[in-house]
Amino acid sequence: MSEAKNYDLIIVGAGPGGISLAAEAKAAGISRDKILVIDKAEAHSWIIRSIYPDKKLVASNYKGIKAVCHGILCLPDVTKDEAISYLDWVINDTGIQVNYNEVVLKIETLGTARAPLFNVHTDKAVYHSRLVVIAIGVFGKPNKPDYKLPTSLRKRIHFDINSFDADNEQILIVGGGDSASEFSQFLVERGNRITLSYRRSSFKRMNAINRQTALGMHDNGQLEILWESNIHQVSVSDAGKPLVHFMEKQYGIRSFDRIVYALGGSTPKNFLQSMGIQFAGKQPDIDAHGESRTPGLFVGGDLHAGLRGGSIANAFNTSRGIIERICGTYMDCVPSVRPYEHRLIARRKGKQLPEQ
Ligand SMILES: Cc1cc2nc3c(=O)[nH]c(=O)nc-3n(C[C@H](O)[C@H](O)[C@H](O)COP(=O)(O)OP(=O)(O)OC[C@H]3O[C@@H](n4cnc5c(N)ncnc54)[C@H](O)[C@@H]3O)c2cc1C
Repeated sequence: MSEAKNYDLIIVGAGPGGISLAAEAKAAGISRDKILVIDKAEAHSWIIRSIYPDKKLVASNYKGIKAVCHGILCLPDVTKDEAISYLDWVINDTGIQVNYNEVVLKIETLGTARAPLFNVHTDKAVYHSRLVVIAIGVFGKPNKPDYKLPTSLRKRIHFDINSFDADNEQILIVGGGDSASEFSQFLVERGNRITLSYRRSSFKRMNAINRQTALGMHDNGQLEILWESNIHQVSVSDAGKPLVHFMEKQYGIRSFDRIVYALGGSTPKNFLQSMGIQFAGKQPDIDAHGESRTPGLFVGGDLHAGLRGGSIANAFNTSRGIIERICGTYMDCVPSVRPYEHRLIARRKGKQLPEQ
């Protein structure tokens, strides 16, 4: 095997969290040859590409969380394609090396608290790095219901909407957050009849646009909403379709062509623990700058967002916190205060940027 390459910073995951951190690191003065981003997918921002509905508005205040930009990256409300192009542009402009289709298998902690050192083992190589940041998001592990799902329904039960084609079908969406509203809009536009099952009596976790859109579709008869509904079982109908058993008598047992769960994602605890991240309950045990109890080993992006869940703006901001710690404690660098290209994007579109 050839000799391991040395890096200052290895970032695992090329989503908004990983890309923004690479950009912050380069802008802070870390040589781009010393920064490596590794992603297991074939392209960056895999969650945006694979899970977002195509015509989705990428809202800066996702989940109703007020977007405030602390770092050099910042996005106003944009389309899915614009969000991907922006991140493409950041990668190309910074010239950061991103290795795709490469899976991180193990992170070995070497060195000392003052001078950390890690061996990052992937399916293709072993790298040495002074610092490692894990920004693999939470959507690789979508939340699943706590009842059993029949395996014969595998092709009729989904956790995203880009993995199947449906037209003129009766589809149940389970959830009540932004994704549930966006999935409903996407599938209604394709001529499907949508029922939404939500366990609460009103939408509390959606941003204003998604809430108004869902309620508007409901008022127009395009979306049926089963408020305060809870499913306790899914079985298979004679026609081989999902039969959904609701706990509430008024909803009874209903047949659908498909079910789409929009229940968010969860922290990949086992994976992170195996990489050396300790946990405090269900969340990684990290400080405000994303540093774990292993000095020099950080988590960024959605993994840093806690139970409320993250957003792109939040992922950008976690990178700011991380670079401040890196420059303050481990490396000779200075976080940049020069905002990135986003002002141009905003001006071109006449759009209002989030606060800075
Ligand atoms: C349907 C949906 C709609 C959303 N809409 C919005 C919105 O409108 N506005 C908004 O701000 N936010 C939105 N979000 C949330 C937003 O996408 C996330 O907060 C953001 O993508 C988090 O960025 P991240 O870099 O932490 O993780 P991710 O975007 O999840 O990126 C993680 C990256 O890590 C890679 N990866 C995973 N595991 C490994 C591994 N073991 N090794 C190497 N690489 C790995 C993945 O391939 C991926 O590229 C939405 C989310 C969903 C699911």
